[in-house]
Amino acid sequence: MTAPLNAFTVDLEEWFHVCGVGGTLNPENWDRLPSRVELTTHILLDALARAGVRATFFVVGWIAERYPHLVEAVREAEHEIGSHGYRHERVYDLGPERFASDLRRSVQALHAVGVPRVTLFRAPEWSINDRSLWALEQLARDGFTLDSSMAPLKIVGSLAYPRHPHLRHTAACPVDRNDEDLFRKSPIGFGKKDSLQRCNRSRSRPRPKERHFTVRSSNSSRAMKPSAT
Ligand SMILES: [Zn+2]
Repeated sequence: MTAPLNAFTVDLEEWFHVCGVGGTLNPENWDRLPSRVELTTHILLDALARAGVRATFFVVGWIAERYPHLVEAVREAEHEIGSHGYRHERVYDLGPERFASDLRRSVQALHAVGVPRVTLFRAPEWSINDRSLWALEQLARDGFTLDSSMAPLKIVGSLAYPRHPHLRHTAACPVDRNDEDLFRKSPIGFGKKDSLQRCNRSRSRPRPKERHFTVRSSNSSRAMKPSAT
């Protein structure tokens, strides 16, 4: 029996990076709002270090530009870095052209703070779904190899979406390439009290195609030790 490998992921963003709201939380007001991202990220980094857990941080480009030292701290702690868009806007609201531009700007922001290669992506509000599957082609064209945006949940995603990592073939990555060239999809889940342990127990039954479970969390994240139930 193969024990599940749990993956811990974080969206590195501000408390005011909320999709689809206006007024005070409009992007033009962001620089005037109180920031919490440094404090909460350092709390989380400390917790991850104590637990001996390495995570994947999906970073908003706007954050990388304003807090380069924060991205540096995440990298120094040997966590993975991915893109969470530049302005934290829903993919299907952006449309293909603006999404391509936002994506590239997010990558440039990460390059500028020393991230050499950006190949991992999570859309704000998991907004790659049946309304925006074209975004996967764009990601593949831009050299991304892993997406963690399609939630197996109602409303933001679909219960029909796979709950385990899988390869998804896109026109930009033909099926006749080697595995590492194919576009990988990673599932998401929510950590809540013992939910991860319960998930692991149910998944400890032999399921050879399933390799890991990803916990999506934000500033209130709590580190969880990789479980080997
Ligand atoms: Zn987010």
